[in-house]
Amino acid sequence: MGKLVHQTERAAFGKVIDSAMKRINKDSEKSFLKMVDLTESFAKDRFRPESYEAARKIIRDKDGKWMSYVNRILDEVSPNVIRTTAMNLGFEAMLSGTKIMHESREKYQCNIPWLILMDPTSACNLKCTGCWAAEYGHTLSLTYDELDNIISQGKELGIYFYMYTGGEPLVRKADIIKLCEKHKECAFHAFTNGTLVDDAFCEEMDRVGNLSLSISLEGYEEVNDGRRGSGVFNQVMEAMDKLKAHGQIFGTSICYTSANIDTVTSDEFLDMIIEKGCRYTWYFHYMPVGNDAAVELLPTKEQREYMYHRVREIRAVEGGKPIFAFDFQNDGEYVGGCIAGGRNYCHINPNGDVEPCVFIHYSSANIKEVSLLEALQQPLFMAYREGQPFNENHLRPCPMLENPEKLMEMVRKTGARSTDMQSPESVEHLCGKCELYAQEWKDKANELWRK
Ligand code: SF4
Repeated sequence: MGKLVHQTERAAFGKVIDSAMKRINKDSEKSFLKMVDLTESFAKDRFRPESYEAARKIIRDKDGKWMSYVNRILDEVSPNVIRTTAMNLGFEAMLSGTKIMHESREKYQCNIPWLILMDPTSACNLKCTGCWAAEYGHTLSLTYDELDNIISQGKELGIYFYMYTGGEPLVRKADIIKLCEKHKECAFHAFTNGTLVDDAFCEEMDRVGNLSLSISLEGYEEVNDGRRGSGVFNQVMEAMDKLKAHGQIFGTSICYTSANIDTVTSDEFLDMIIEKGCRYTWYFHYMPVGNDAAVELLPTKEQREYMYHRVREIRAVEGGKPIFAFDFQNDGEYVGGCIAGGRNYCHINPNGDVEPCVFIHYSSANIKEVSLLEALQQPLFMAYREGQPFNENHLRPCPMLENPEKLMEMVRKTGARSTDMQSPESVEHLCGKCELYAQEWKDKANELWRK
């Protein structure tokens, strides 16, 4: 019965998506509005009523920034990619999967994430300064069967969105495509250095339709190549040209630091990546993780405040940029603070350790030894569940960066061990590096939050 209902709902969504894609130059507004109605009737109160109204307002503003953005995607992106993304990320992951996910949370009384980030390998074709992948060593990997098994178990719990990082995930591009084929109703996303993207891979992406990319960039050639190696910036530009020519969905993954924050948020830089075909840009605040972390790269409180305003400026309907920008540290208000520990996501490193977050290298569960559900029920994840949100002020979401005493307490209480295989870092050392930052940011964050 459940399967039949799912098929009927899926077919209804597919029909509306097809008509929105076909009628783009005639009457797409009606189809998009119908999509919102359908979502509302399906998801009901899972989203706030204001969210549906906001979506309708955007759709009715035909010449507005976001409808122009959508129309450009419809004009420029491969139809198979658009349809598959809308079905997999929109229908399967956001609507149907989320329903199962909520039921699983109730049933198992633990956090069940919306997405899982996995490292297929610790191997990488580059040697970037300060990359956490290097900390795991270069010989670890999750086999195809292990990845497949995680996804199969995840789907049972309602998880239909899988991301890869590494190492360089595209070192395993054949397996990644094979998994896209096998789990064709799931959405996949890879954080990549971009240097292994070629025409053949773009064609494969086009064929499967359910894989998108975020390419790492630190700035222009000099800064980027200073960290990643000579020639990498130009290789990334070429990769973007190829992805754009093949109608693929991609964006950038940018780690902002005290040194590059002005460059990577400048109008010129954003205009460049938009011109290259990027649809989104994920901004990640630098995290001082690892025994050798460069604490001086932590943004100052003035820079953090600038970033808070700047990302909103980039997104703004009036005067903003035609790209979707999201800053994981300053946009906690949209996701209720920290999303880690399985609340919305978790990370599985190439050794199989199931960690709360890609930045939190502590765990007491390995996916090679326990089921996904057991890993989600490990003491550290249960402590996350109990403690979330770690701060009522979502501009101070992190149990490490802005509330270091919280991570220290959780790791000590649960006995989770360091998963860093090369240079295990004590939680006291890690959190000690964040204390001054947390102290300095607190007052400004509270002032902004009150506003
Ligand atoms: S642990 Fe920190 S970095 Fe990770 S999701 Fe939570 S707030 Fe973000």
